[in-house]
Amino acid sequence: MRLYGKDNLKQQLDLTAKSGRLPHAILLHGEHGVGKRTLANYIAKLFMCGPQPCEQCHVCTKINANAHPDVIFVKRECGGKYNLDETGKGGLVSMRRIMESVAIKPNDGDIKVYIFEDSDEMSVQIQNTLLKLIEEPAPFLRFVFTCENTDTIIETIRSRVTALEVPCASENECAQCLIDSGNDPEQALSLAKTMSGNIGKCLDIISGEGDTVFMDTAKKIADAIARNDGFAAAAALSEQTGRAEFASVLGYLTEILRDALAARCGTTLNSCGRQQAKAIADNHSEEQILDMLDAVFKVTADASLNLNVALTASYLTSKLI
Ligand SMILES: [Zn+2]
Repeated sequence: MRLYGKDNLKQQLDLTAKSGRLPHAILLHGEHGVGKRTLANYIAKLFMCGPQPCEQCHVCTKINANAHPDVIFVKRECGGKYNLDETGKGGLVSMRRIMESVAIKPNDGDIKVYIFEDSDEMSVQIQNTLLKLIEEPAPFLRFVFTCENTDTIIETIRSRVTALEVPCASENECAQCLIDSGNDPEQALSLAKTMSGNIGKCLDIISGEGDTVFMDTAKKIADAIARNDGFAAAAALSEQTGRAEFASVLGYLTEILRDALAARCGTTLNSCGRQQAKAIADNHSEEQILDMLDAVFKVTADASLNLNVALTASYLTSKLI
Protein backbone atom coordinates (compact mmCIF):
# COMPACT_ATOMS: atom_id res chain seq x y z
CA MET A 1 0.00 0.00 0.00
CA ARG A 2 1.36 3.39 -0.95
CA LEU A 3 1.27 6.09 1.71
CA TYR A 4 1.80 9.18 -0.41
CA GLY A 5 4.45 11.50 0.99
CA LYS A 6 5.18 9.21 3.92
CA ASP A 7 7.78 6.87 2.45
CA ASN A 8 10.33 7.57 5.19
CA LEU A 9 7.84 7.21 8.02
CA LYS A 10 6.45 4.01 6.49
CA GLN A 11 9.92 2.57 6.11
CA GLN A 12 10.72 3.41 9.71
CA LEU A 13 7.50 1.75 10.91
CA ASP A 14 8.01 -1.31 8.68
CA LEU A 15 11.53 -1.85 9.99
CA THR A 16 10.47 -1.42 13.60
CA ALA A 17 7.60 -3.86 13.10
CA LYS A 18 9.89 -6.36 11.40
CA SER A 19 12.25 -6.32 14.36
CA GLY A 20 9.26 -6.81 16.68
CA ARG A 21 9.79 -3.50 18.44
CA LEU A 22 6.67 -1.62 17.39
CA PRO A 23 5.67 0.37 20.52
CA HIS A 24 2.32 -0.51 22.09
CA ALA A 25 1.30 3.16 22.24
CA ILE A 26 1.95 5.54 19.33
CA LEU A 27 1.01 9.21 19.01
CA LEU A 28 0.64 10.54 15.47
CA HIS A 29 0.63 14.29 15.19
CA GLY A 30 0.25 16.55 12.19
CA GLU A 31 -2.10 19.07 10.64
CA HIS A 32 -5.68 18.37 9.62
CA GLY A 33 -5.87 16.38 6.39
CA VAL A 34 -2.30 15.13 6.48
CA GLY A 35 -3.31 11.45 6.66
CA LYS A 36 -3.25 10.53 10.34
CA ARG A 37 -6.25 8.21 10.07
CA THR A 38 -4.81 6.39 7.05
CA LEU A 39 -1.59 5.93 8.96
CA ALA A 40 -3.40 4.78 12.12
CA ASN A 41 -5.11 2.11 10.02
CA TYR A 42 -1.76 1.16 8.53
CA ILE A 43 -0.29 0.75 12.02
CA ALA A 44 -3.28 -1.39 13.00
CA LYS A 45 -2.45 -3.62 10.01
CA LEU A 46 1.21 -3.80 11.12
CA PHE A 47 0.02 -4.95 14.55
CA MET A 48 -2.56 -7.42 13.28
CA CYS A 49 -1.49 -8.67 9.84
CA GLY A 50 2.27 -8.40 10.20
CA PRO A 51 5.36 -6.36 9.34
CA GLN A 52 4.40 -6.15 5.69
CA PRO A 53 0.61 -5.88 5.61
CA CYS A 54 -0.62 -8.01 2.70
CA GLU A 55 -3.72 -5.83 2.02
CA GLN A 56 -5.57 -9.01 1.01
CA CYS A 57 -6.25 -11.10 4.08
CA HIS A 58 -9.52 -10.72 5.98
CA VAL A 59 -7.75 -8.60 8.62
CA CYS A 60 -6.43 -6.08 6.09
CA THR A 61 -9.64 -5.92 4.08
CA LYS A 62 -11.74 -5.41 7.21
CA ILE A 63 -9.43 -2.68 8.48
CA ASN A 64 -9.48 -0.96 5.08
CA ALA A 65 -13.27 -1.06 5.15
CA ASN A 66 -13.29 0.37 8.72
CA ALA A 67 -15.11 -2.76 9.76
CA HIS A 68 -12.68 -4.69 11.96
CA PRO A 69 -14.29 -5.42 15.34
CA ASP A 70 -10.94 -5.18 17.13
CA VAL A 71 -9.88 -1.85 15.65
CA ILE A 72 -11.84 0.61 17.72
CA PHE A 73 -12.08 4.26 16.73
CA VAL A 74 -12.96 5.57 20.16
CA LYS A 75 -14.14 9.06 19.21
CA ARG A 76 -16.50 7.60 16.63
CA GLU A 77 -17.81 5.09 19.20
CA CYS A 78 -18.41 7.98 21.58
CA GLY A 79 -20.54 9.80 19.00
CA GLY A 80 -17.84 12.28 18.00
CA LYS A 81 -17.12 13.69 21.44
CA TYR A 82 -15.05 12.47 24.37
CA ASN A 83 -17.22 12.31 27.47
CA LEU A 84 -16.13 10.72 30.70
CA ASP A 85 -19.66 9.73 31.70
CA GLU A 86 -22.89 9.11 29.83
CA THR A 87 -24.46 12.35 28.75
CA GLY A 88 -27.93 10.89 28.58
CA LYS A 89 -28.26 12.13 25.04
CA GLY A 90 -29.00 9.34 22.58
CA GLY A 91 -27.19 6.81 24.76
CA LEU A 92 -23.72 7.87 23.62
CA VAL A 93 -20.93 5.61 24.72
CA SER A 94 -18.77 7.25 27.36
CA MET A 95 -15.05 6.94 27.92
CA ARG A 96 -15.78 5.04 31.10
CA ARG A 97 -17.71 2.47 29.06
CA ILE A 98 -14.83 2.25 26.58
CA MET A 99 -12.41 1.70 29.41
CA GLU A 100 -14.51 -1.13 30.79
CA SER A 101 -14.56 -2.75 27.36
CA VAL A 102 -10.79 -2.68 27.19
CA ALA A 103 -10.52 -5.73 29.45
CA ILE A 104 -12.56 -7.85 27.03
CA LYS A 105 -10.39 -10.08 24.86
CA PRO A 106 -10.24 -9.53 21.07
CA ASN A 107 -13.06 -10.98 18.97
CA ASP A 108 -11.09 -12.04 15.98
CA GLY A 109 -7.42 -12.54 16.70
CA ASP A 110 -4.97 -11.87 19.49
CA ILE A 111 -4.63 -8.07 19.23
CA LYS A 112 -7.04 -5.21 19.88
CA VAL A 113 -6.18 -1.70 18.72
CA TYR A 114 -7.79 1.39 20.26
CA ILE A 115 -7.48 4.52 18.13
CA PHE A 116 -8.03 7.82 19.92
CA GLU A 117 -8.47 10.41 17.16
CA ASP A 118 -8.18 14.14 17.94
CA SER A 119 -6.80 13.26 21.35
CA ASP A 120 -5.99 16.95 21.87
CA GLU A 121 -9.76 17.29 22.44
CA MET A 122 -9.66 15.06 25.51
CA SER A 123 -9.92 16.79 28.87
CA VAL A 124 -7.07 16.46 31.33
CA GLN A 125 -9.35 14.31 33.48
CA ILE A 126 -9.93 11.88 30.63
CA GLN A 127 -6.25 11.79 29.78
CA ASN A 128 -5.47 10.98 33.40
CA THR A 129 -7.98 8.16 33.32
CA LEU A 130 -6.23 6.73 30.27
CA LEU A 131 -2.86 6.88 31.91
CA LYS A 132 -3.14 3.64 33.84
CA LEU A 133 -4.38 1.88 30.74
CA ILE A 134 -1.28 2.82 28.77
CA GLU A 135 1.03 2.14 31.68
CA GLU A 136 -0.07 -1.41 32.41
CA PRO A 137 -1.86 -2.64 29.31
CA ALA A 138 -3.12 -6.19 28.91
CA PRO A 139 -0.80 -8.03 26.51
CA PHE A 140 -3.35 -7.91 23.69
CA LEU A 141 -3.82 -4.11 23.78
CA ARG A 142 -2.34 -1.52 21.43
CA PHE A 143 -3.04 2.21 21.29
CA VAL A 144 -2.78 4.83 18.57
CA PHE A 145 -3.42 8.46 19.43
CA THR A 146 -3.77 11.18 16.82
CA CYS A 147 -3.79 14.94 17.26
CA GLU A 148 -2.95 18.17 15.46
CA ASN A 149 -1.17 19.73 18.37
CA THR A 150 0.68 17.90 21.14
CA ASP A 151 0.59 20.94 23.48
CA THR A 152 -2.63 19.87 25.19
CA ILE A 153 -1.51 16.27 25.68
CA ILE A 154 -0.39 15.93 29.28
CA GLU A 155 3.26 15.24 29.89
CA THR A 156 2.61 11.93 31.66
CA ILE A 157 0.90 10.62 28.52
CA ARG A 158 3.47 12.10 26.18
CA SER A 159 6.29 10.41 28.06
CA ARG A 160 4.59 7.00 27.69
CA VAL A 161 3.88 7.09 23.98
CA THR A 162 6.12 7.13 20.95
CA ALA A 163 5.35 10.37 19.13
CA LEU A 164 5.68 10.45 15.35
CA GLU A 165 5.13 13.53 13.24
CA VAL A 166 3.08 12.82 10.13
CA PRO A 167 4.58 14.88 7.30
CA CYS A 168 2.63 16.64 4.57
CA ALA A 169 3.10 15.25 1.06
CA SER A 170 4.89 17.33 -1.56
CA GLU A 171 2.65 18.98 -4.14
CA ASN A 172 3.68 16.35 -6.70
CA GLU A 173 3.02 13.41 -4.39
CA CYS A 174 -0.33 14.91 -3.45
CA ALA A 175 -1.26 15.39 -7.11
CA GLN A 176 -0.19 11.81 -7.88
CA CYS A 177 -2.42 10.52 -5.09
CA LEU A 178 -5.38 12.44 -6.50
CA ILE A 179 -4.63 11.23 -10.04
CA ASP A 180 -4.30 7.62 -8.86
CA SER A 181 -7.70 7.88 -7.24
CA GLY A 182 -9.23 8.85 -10.56
CA ASN A 183 -9.09 12.65 -10.69
CA ASP A 184 -8.24 14.74 -13.71
CA PRO A 185 -4.43 15.33 -13.78
CA GLU A 186 -4.66 19.05 -14.48
CA GLN A 187 -7.21 19.65 -11.73
CA ALA A 188 -5.18 17.42 -9.38
CA LEU A 189 -2.02 19.46 -9.91
CA SER A 190 -3.69 22.80 -9.43
CA LEU A 191 -5.55 21.62 -6.32
CA ALA A 192 -2.39 20.11 -4.83
CA LYS A 193 -0.69 23.46 -5.34
CA THR A 194 -3.54 25.45 -3.76
CA MET A 195 -3.60 23.17 -0.72
CA SER A 196 0.21 22.97 -0.41
CA GLY A 197 0.19 19.18 -0.74
CA ASN A 198 -2.44 18.48 1.92
CA ILE A 199 -4.21 15.41 0.50
CA GLY A 200 -7.08 15.41 3.02
CA LYS A 201 -7.95 19.04 2.33
CA CYS A 202 -7.87 18.36 -1.44
CA LEU A 203 -10.26 15.43 -0.93
CA ASP A 204 -12.53 17.69 1.16
CA ILE A 205 -12.72 20.09 -1.77
CA ILE A 206 -13.31 17.34 -4.31
CA SER A 207 -16.17 16.03 -2.16
CA GLY A 208 -17.59 19.55 -1.98
CA GLU A 209 -16.65 20.35 1.62
CA GLY A 210 -14.37 23.24 0.75
CA ASP A 211 -14.25 25.94 -1.87
CA THR A 212 -11.09 26.96 -3.65
CA VAL A 213 -12.58 30.23 -4.93
CA PHE A 214 -13.05 31.57 -1.39
CA MET A 215 -9.69 30.21 -0.36
CA ASP A 216 -8.00 31.95 -3.28
CA THR A 217 -9.69 35.24 -2.35
CA ALA A 218 -8.60 34.87 1.28
CA LYS A 219 -5.06 34.21 0.09
CA LYS A 220 -5.19 37.30 -2.15
CA ILE A 221 -6.25 39.43 0.84
CA ALA A 222 -3.49 37.88 2.95
CA ASP A 223 -0.98 38.61 0.19
CA ALA A 224 -2.12 42.22 0.17
CA ILE A 225 -1.76 42.44 3.96
CA ALA A 226 1.76 41.06 3.72
CA ARG A 227 2.64 43.68 1.09
CA ASN A 228 0.75 46.46 2.93
CA ASP A 229 -1.23 46.97 -0.26
CA GLY A 230 -4.52 48.54 0.79
CA PHE A 231 -5.77 48.85 -2.77
CA ALA A 232 -5.35 45.12 -3.52
CA ALA A 233 -6.92 44.18 -0.18
CA ALA A 234 -9.97 46.38 -0.81
CA ALA A 235 -10.30 45.02 -4.34
CA ALA A 236 -10.19 41.39 -3.19
CA LEU A 237 -12.60 42.09 -0.32
CA SER A 238 -15.07 43.81 -2.63
CA GLU A 239 -15.14 40.82 -5.00
CA GLN A 240 -17.76 39.23 -2.74
CA THR A 241 -21.32 39.65 -3.79
CA GLY A 242 -23.16 38.48 -0.72
CA ARG A 243 -22.96 37.79 2.97
CA ALA A 244 -22.46 34.04 2.70
CA GLU A 245 -19.52 34.48 0.32
CA PHE A 246 -18.07 37.17 2.54
CA ALA A 247 -18.35 34.95 5.61
CA SER A 248 -16.63 32.04 3.82
CA VAL A 249 -13.73 34.24 2.73
CA LEU A 250 -13.36 35.67 6.23
CA GLY A 251 -13.38 32.14 7.64
CA TYR A 252 -10.35 31.23 5.52
CA LEU A 253 -8.72 34.59 6.25
CA THR A 254 -9.08 33.92 9.99
CA GLU A 255 -7.23 30.62 9.55
CA ILE A 256 -4.42 32.36 7.68
CA LEU A 257 -4.11 35.10 10.33
CA ARG A 258 -4.04 32.45 13.06
CA ASP A 259 -1.23 30.81 11.12
CA ALA A 260 0.58 34.15 10.99
CA LEU A 261 0.43 34.22 14.80
CA ALA A 262 1.61 30.61 14.90
CA ALA A 263 4.49 31.51 12.57
CA ARG A 264 5.56 34.23 15.00
CA CYS A 265 5.51 31.72 17.86
CA GLY A 266 7.31 29.12 15.75
CA THR A 267 4.52 26.53 15.96
CA THR A 268 2.96 24.45 13.18
CA LEU A 269 0.94 26.12 10.42
CA ASN A 270 -2.31 24.56 9.23
CA SER A 271 -4.13 26.93 6.92
CA CYS A 272 -4.50 26.96 3.15
CA GLY A 273 -2.29 30.06 3.02
CA ARG A 274 0.81 29.11 4.93
CA GLN A 275 3.10 31.03 2.59
CA GLN A 276 1.02 34.19 3.02
CA ALA A 277 0.87 33.64 6.79
CA LYS A 278 4.66 33.49 6.94
CA ALA A 279 4.93 36.66 4.86
CA ILE A 280 2.52 38.47 7.21
CA ALA A 281 4.46 37.22 10.22
CA ASP A 282 7.69 38.54 8.72
CA ASN A 283 6.60 42.16 8.76
CA HIS A 284 3.90 42.40 11.43
CA SER A 285 4.04 42.14 15.21
CA GLU A 286 1.89 39.75 17.22
CA GLU A 287 -0.09 42.72 18.45
CA GLN A 288 -0.82 43.88 14.91
CA ILE A 289 -1.94 40.41 13.88
CA LEU A 290 -4.19 40.16 16.95
CA ASP A 291 -5.75 43.50 15.98
CA MET A 292 -6.44 42.15 12.50
CA LEU A 293 -8.06 39.04 13.95
CA ASP A 294 -10.15 41.25 16.20
CA ALA A 295 -11.40 43.26 13.24
CA VAL A 296 -12.23 40.10 11.28
CA PHE A 297 -14.10 38.65 14.28
CA LYS A 298 -16.03 41.87 14.69
CA VAL A 299 -17.14 41.85 11.05
CA THR A 300 -17.92 38.13 11.17
CA ALA A 301 -20.14 38.73 14.20
CA ASP A 302 -21.83 41.64 12.41
CA ALA A 303 -22.33 39.61 9.27
CA SER A 304 -25.40 38.05 10.83
CA LEU A 305 -26.85 41.56 11.21
CA ASN A 306 -27.00 43.98 8.36
CA LEU A 307 -23.88 43.62 6.34
CA ASN A 308 -23.15 46.03 3.55
CA VAL A 309 -20.33 44.40 1.59
CA ALA A 310 -18.80 47.60 0.20
CA LEU A 311 -18.80 49.40 3.56
CA THR A 312 -17.48 46.37 5.38
CA ALA A 313 -14.74 45.90 2.79
CA SER A 314 -13.50 49.43 3.28
CA TYR A 315 -13.80 49.19 7.09
CA LEU A 316 -11.82 45.94 7.11
CA THR A 317 -9.17 47.30 4.75
CA SER A 318 -8.57 50.19 7.13
CA LYS A 319 -8.09 47.73 9.99
CA LEU A 320 -5.97 45.22 8.10
CA ILE A 321 -3.48 47.49 6.36
ZN1 LIG B 1 -3.15 -8.74 5.65
